[in-house]
Amino acid sequence: MTNILITVDTEAHRDLSEFWGCSQKGSYGIEKICRIFNDFDIRATFFLDVGEITKWGEKELKAVTDCLKASGNEIQLHVHPNYLGDPSKYYFWQYALLKQSEIIREAKKIFEEIVGYSPQAFRAGSYGANDETLHALALAGISLDFSAYFEKKNCKMLLPAGNCPNDVYYQSGVYEIPVSTFGLNLFGLRYRSKVDINSSATSELINVIELMTTNDYNPIIMFMHSFSLADRGRKYLPDFKAEEKLKRVLDYLKRTEIPVSTISEYADSSLPVVDIKKQEDKNSFVVKHNADISLNGLIKSFPGTFHRVKGTGIAYSIKRLKGMIKKGG
Ligand SMILES: [Zn+2]
Repeated sequence: MTNILITVDTEAHRDLSEFWGCSQKGSYGIEKICRIFNDFDIRATFFLDVGEITKWGEKELKAVTDCLKASGNEIQLHVHPNYLGDPSKYYFWQYALLKQSEIIREAKKIFEEIVGYSPQAFRAGSYGANDETLHALALAGISLDFSAYFEKKNCKMLLPAGNCPNDVYYQSGVYEIPVSTFGLNLFGLRYRSKVDINSSATSELINVIELMTTNDYNPIIMFMHSFSLADRGRKYLPDFKAEEKLKRVLDYLKRTEIPVSTISEYADSSLPVVDIKKQEDKNSFVVKHNADISLNGLIKSFPGTFHRVKGTGIAYSIKRLKGMIKKGG
């Protein structure tokens, strides 16, 4: 059965508003997001970028943690390596394994001090991981990675031969649970988009979730940021359209009774146990999907069935392009 994991990358690279989202026109930060989750009786996982302790200090990060803990949501580890490593290197793959390992272990220590428990799951900043990152995680005793975003330039993880980009696999002692993505073909330009309220219109998100559910995707990762409800282009004001979109998608999940879980709930209930002795550290698929999801146009690259939905082709491309300009609807 499909579980949806809502993951919220919690970070403030430019301004503290990206955490707190307070403005005279209304709030749009983590408190607001947690209130909406609470209204729908949903718990999500917040990936906290703990390296920002070097930018904002311990007190600020502790306040973020306290707010998330009080709301009953889960916190896991997010790391943009430039804060703890070389300020000019933004991706883990720019660091040798030893340095990656050092940064992750330091981040884990900070996380434990601030949050009060050990992280079970990790996501690299900007999906900037490579396969060595999995070794570094194993060395730090973290068993779940959520960094892979296949076909994304920043991500240097290699898609194991024969799998779909959303398959869960086990490698180097770590489970890889990729960001859920789907194919799009706009005017012949082929690319992948993620399940994220900031990158799709409501109808598109619901279409994709429906197709993924029909094809037994488990889990579906729904991506958000702590600033997903912010209009960052206009001096940090609330983006009421994004808020409405989030509510409509959560309402759809409620109505269709698709379970929403935190990462630890999913890991405890749905993640198959890999027999490490048998696998001997070989790559293995844990959840194999036999269909890649493509919303329009034919994408010929991965095995499996491709799906088309209503309004495909040029009409769809135009609609989506318009939707993107208006940030969806
Ligand atoms: Zn991030």
